[in-house]
Amino acid sequence: MLIIGTHISIAGGIAKTAENVVKMEANTMQIFSRNPRGSNFKIPSEKEVEEFQRIRQEYHFGPILAHAPYTMNLASAKPEVYEFACEVIREDVERMDALGIENIVFHPGSHTGIGTEAGIQNIIGGLNQAITEDQNITVLLETMSGKGTEIGFQFEELKAIRDGVKYPEKVGVCLDTCHIFSAGYDIVNHLDKVLEEFDEILGLSLLKAIHLNDSMMPFASRKDRHATIGDGEIGLEASLNVLKHPKLQGIPVYLETPLDDAGHKEEIKMIREHLKM
Ligand code: FE
Ligand code: FE
Ligand code: ZN
Repeated sequence: MLIIGTHISIAGGIAKTAENVVKMEANTMQIFSRNPRGSNFKIPSEKEVEEFQRIRQEYHFGPILAHAPYTMNLASAKPEVYEFACEVIREDVERMDALGIENIVFHPGSHTGIGTEAGIQNIIGGLNQAITEDQNITVLLETMSGKGTEIGFQFEELKAIRDGVKYPEKVGVCLDTCHIFSAGYDIVNHLDKVLEEFDEILGLSLLKAIHLNDSMMPFASRKDRHATIGDGEIGLEASLNVLKHPKLQGIPVYLETPLDDAGHKEEIKMIREHLKM
């Protein structure tokens, strides 16, 4: 069965959000672990958490994905930026784990001039102070488009991060179709080859989530602009091929396309009709 959901706002509270997922005929969701630009987060009441857990169980949600704020830069050499990023990832991994959320994804970060190697060392340090042995949650590194000085647009960089941490078994990968396409992995014409490469470098068992997005920007442009499925440079057929690929069955899929909840409901329906899943 296809596990599919979208990025969804938790502004109305986490229980209400789970209700909206059901209305959308989805069976999972991606939520921000806190305000995407700032440092704010709301702590849900015990009653609300109970209601959230009830809904996700009753409707058999697949793994839920939390997304750390975009502004968090664990690769930064600026002490105040880095200290803040460390605090955010530490708190959010802990809070999301306490909610029973299976995975939390983050953008590895931008080295802003200090170089990839040094940036990776900073990311490793940040993860080591956030991930503890007793946590159940898996921390996912997102594949990036490689804009500016972004780290993580090559599988080798993600491997270097994972290999460097104290608890690598608690670190996985989230593959974003828009990002890898704009990073120069040709999932339109050579999906098998891209997955073979992923498997050789990282191992497909580390792939815990797929962000399914079309791309407004051309192949290998290193630019990150999401399009709705079928309306970008990847196209409908290639997007469906990702979902149909035998090696990717059972991996939860999250849409981050520029649509509202009503639009996402239609997009999920369209995808299901094409796949008959
Ligand atoms: Fe992301
Ligand atoms: Fe993404
Ligand atoms: Zn993106």
